[in-house]
Amino acid sequence: MNKKSPTLKKKNRQVNHLLVNHYGIPFRPKKLPNPADALIATILSQNTNDNNSYKAYLNLKRRYKSLDKLAEAPRREIENTIKVAGLGKQKSTAIKAFLSTIKKRGDNINLNYIKKMNDADILTELTSIKGVGVKTASCVLLFSLDRNVCPVDTHVHRTLNRIGIVKTKTPDKTFAQINNQLADGIAHQFHTNLIKLGREICKPSTPSCTICPLLKVCSFKKKNLNKPLITKNNSFLLLDSI
Ligand code: SF4
Repeated sequence: MNKKSPTLKKKNRQVNHLLVNHYGIPFRPKKLPNPADALIATILSQNTNDNNSYKAYLNLKRRYKSLDKLAEAPRREIENTIKVAGLGKQKSTAIKAFLSTIKKRGDNINLNYIKKMNDADILTELTSIKGVGVKTASCVLLFSLDRNVCPVDTHVHRTLNRIGIVKTKTPDKTFAQINNQLADGIAHQFHTNLIKLGREICKPSTPSCTICPLLKVCSFKKKNLNKPLITKNNSFLLLDSI
């Protein structure tokens, strides 16, 4: 990765500080999930909300007592078990592909061997698995291994572009830019609070700028200064709950 820019790091720290003042420091469980569980949960979370992906994750955990049992299960059975999360065929195929790849790479079905690797090598390793993209791999880095890496989903991509911290067209480009300039030790709170901001205030079609804690530092030209649309608190986060 390139040398980090002190100015941009300062801006990230300022935005993070304002978000922490507004939302607080997000909850983190004492025991972080193992990397394989975090990866499977992230696959389940694609294109659905965290409540449905959590239900699908619990269904998998109840039905298959180990990753070996899950790896042996027929794909259609897995699809049926996770149907509440949608895209069952695609997600069950990705889970099977993931488990069969790591089975070939070691004696046991787990990802514990990545714990000793650096961030860049883990990203390369995980994204070499079919169906695993940058977002999924970076969620493993943050939520399971506690690395200072900020995953970028649609909310993080949109809010960072509106605020003016990055100027990019795709989440993967946002990921590269933000992680090149991320202040030390802020990834979890920064990522989590940006998601809350994107869900509740800086919504895709109509942001509620008058109630936004970032109003004074945000560069978005089309701010909405009309009466805000109140959205109910939506703070459940899958990867801090498994
Ligand atoms: S001021 Fe408006 S556009 Fe900027 S981050 Fe806040 S809600 Fe989004």
